[in-house]
Amino acid sequence: MDNNLYKLLPKVDDILAMEDIKELQNNIPYSIILESIREELDNLRNRIKELDEQGLLKELSMLKDRILRLANKKNRYKLRTVVNGTGIVIHTNLGRSLINEEVIENMKTVSTKYSNLEYDLEKGMRGSRYSHLEEVVANVVGGEAALVVNNNAAAVLLTLSTVARGKEVIVSRGELIEIGGAFRVPEVMEQSGAILREVGTTNKTHLRDYENSINDMTGALLKVHTSNYRILGFTSNVEIDELAILKEKYNIPVIEDLGSGVLIDLSKYGISYEPTVSQSLKKGADIVTFSGDKLLGGPQAGIIVGKREWIEKMKKNPLTRAFRVDKFTIAALEATLRYYLDENDAISKIPTLRMLTVKLEELKLRSEKLASDMAAFGEYLDINVEESYSEVGGGSLPLEKLKTYCVTLKPKDGNLVLLERLLRENDTPIIVRVFKEKIYIDVRTLLNGDDLTIIDGLKNALRYEV
Ligand SMILES: *Cc1c(COP(=O)(O)O)cnc(C)c1O
Repeated sequence: MDNNLYKLLPKVDDILAMEDIKELQNNIPYSIILESIREELDNLRNRIKELDEQGLLKELSMLKDRILRLANKKNRYKLRTVVNGTGIVIHTNLGRSLINEEVIENMKTVSTKYSNLEYDLEKGMRGSRYSHLEEVVANVVGGEAALVVNNNAAAVLLTLSTVARGKEVIVSRGELIEIGGAFRVPEVMEQSGAILREVGTTNKTHLRDYENSINDMTGALLKVHTSNYRILGFTSNVEIDELAILKEKYNIPVIEDLGSGVLIDLSKYGISYEPTVSQSLKKGADIVTFSGDKLLGGPQAGIIVGKREWIEKMKKNPLTRAFRVDKFTIAALEATLRYYLDENDAISKIPTLRMLTVKLEELKLRSEKLASDMAAFGEYLDINVEESYSEVGGGSLPLEKLKTYCVTLKPKDGNLVLLERLLRENDTPIIVRVFKEKIYIDVRTLLNGDDLTIIDGLKNALRYEV
């Protein structure tokens, strides 16, 4: 080992004085640059024992670029955009529903200026943040009143806590579900202070099961949409209109947790029928809860609609304050819900619905275009267009298979794992599906500009590989 090599390492101050590094300070905080310099110098110091003078000089010639790269990387936001090549439209890990520029514009206006968030402009006095959404919710889904909270989990908890604290809530054993991220019906029930009264069996529950369990302690009948799983075969469950019969007879409220919150019948676009929120209300649910960022295609939110009497009670529940939404959510949700006033607007402008209903022919053309843009990589990759299936995601319509087209990539060197990783580590990470020795890029979930990002990502990835 040559101790003199250490003397060749530049001083921090010398590096800071370099032109490129000085320039960097216009965009990146000094502390981040300093940290990056120290880290790269430490790196080199730790490896110096393995190097001879020539080796070290080579390393030193790359030092500045490494520092620039590291500083830029450290300066990036931690939450950043990715390319969703998975074809899963409501991808919970990749941000669930997207909202469009118009909706963002409304959020921007409302949050960069003062607003009437809690101010009644007619009366000139304090108002309620919840009032802004009541009209549009009523127009779009019906119901006497509405309340919006942080997410659907909060909506269910608030509902149970308000309606049935200290009382029994009857639920079918086939509906005691868990949704990703630890939303479990029995546990939410316990948190709310209501007592779970399970009836029926996993596959079959009858109206008489509910009726036989009704007693003085009964506070509500709850129906939970089994969003992310299905029981098939010898099954039966009780629909809202049947539960409504018991409601009339015993004067017990009926609550439905619909999960996804479909507002329009998507079956005419080739997607399986799902009960809509307004149908649930029409069939007799007193309170319906659903998510804002699943099939509705808006911001994260939990929407509660139904009888005014219950909604007013909820507003007085201290949990409402804990679950309250801020102005971003209200602005985004109001703008999104407005699209539903005209179904064509909803389908064409809400990204989630647009991606779910896009025509197969268009997907085919897009995948062929992407594959032909990739032709230059033919030396390293087998590139093909294949018919495949996309998923809805978000725990919605778990069995739905949407026909789609994918570009498939098969590295000629067989190193699929490496290629997947390099795409994921791209500046704008590219998330793909890996299946049977191939990478699948489903064009259904690609956005404008993603094609270029993918081409760029492949360029970078293949440079490493060769
Ligand atoms: C998704 C879902 C929830 C949780 O909704 P979040 O908005 O994610 O909190 C609750 N219940 C059902 C039936 C769901 O599908």
